Amino acid sequence: MCQSCAASAAPAPLHADASGPFRGLSRRGLLAGAGLGALAVHLPTGSAAATEPEAAAEAEAAASARNGAWACPALGRFPAGGHYGAPRGGASHAGQDVSNSTGTAVHAAAAGTVVRRSWGGGLPGRTGNALVIAHGGGQYTYYGHLSAYRVGLNAEVGAGQRIADMGATGNVTGPHLHFETHTGRLGTTVNPVSFLAARGVDLSGGWSRIDPGASGATVVVIQHLMNRRGYGLVVDGAYGSVSADAVKRFQRSQGLTADGQVGPATWPELVYTLRQGADGSHVRALQTALNKRGAGLAVDGGFGSVTRSAVRAYQSVNRLVVDGEAGPVTWRALTG
Ligand SMILES: [Zn+2]
Repeated sequence: MCQSCAASAAPAPLHADASGPFRGLSRRGLLAGAGLGALAVHLPTGSAAATEPEAAAEAEAAASARNGAWACPALGRFPAGGHYGAPRGGASHAGQDVSNSTGTAVHAAAAGTVVRRSWGGGLPGRTGNALVIAHGGGQYTYYGHLSAYRVGLNAEVGAGQRIADMGATGNVTGPHLHFETHTGRLGTTVNPVSFLAARGVDLSGGWSRIDPGASGATVVVIQHLMNRRGYGLVVDGAYGSVSADAVKRFQRSQGLTADGQVGPATWPELVYTLRQGADGSHVRALQTALNKRGAGLAVDGGFGSVTRSAVRAYQSVNRLVVDGEAGPVTWRALTG
């Protein structure tokens, strides 16, 4: 875990702790006052949007969030003491640690622009190689202690794209990803676990939760899987009423709660264990999911040697069992 993440005295608040020194100040007050520290000179002009009412901005973010547009940044486990808010030498841990071996893939949690690629991201109290991605709307994600960068500064990245390798650079006791989520502006952290959960992602590695109204690549995955089950959906990546009604019928047929949410109860019933030689819409679903993680496959529905290699590569860099088969564990990781 991090020994010193966010441990040093910082000029700016590292988390949105209501008991902190900035309690009661408006966001505008923060920007105008103490919040304007060394970080401010690096803020893009778009951060002016942070002065919008926080509730409205968060509601807007939430409305656009459960859309398959977010992805779990890394597979691993939550180490003891690595939780957001845990004590750190008088401060509190600004992120959530996810432990795995050095070289484990680190993926962009959402599409955005790489705005920091430096030691500690230039943020106070952080150590080690780090990336910061700006997602727009005042939202940022931070990836720390990396062993290798796989994207350049100012790169545009997609959700789920591999951006780095997990490592142990900086002040740490072992390899892990230190992952932070910032809202409003860079420097204002929130709990990454709940932040991602509100966007349908389980940072601990569980199945994603895709709700009606969503859109994006994961919806394409669902539509392909549904079509394999005979529902005849238009594969447009929009989880509208027709797709949602079909999912509800599927859920009823499986004895599940017919709420239209493709989540931990529905995914396991929806996916297929696939291996080389398979052919059809379920393979298109798999290829789409692999492409969200950067595989670059042709979505042709044929599980040949190229798709098998892509499955093996994904399993390897995410520390799954490398067998070239897409079973439930691989599906859960791919669609998480
Ligand atoms: Zn940490």
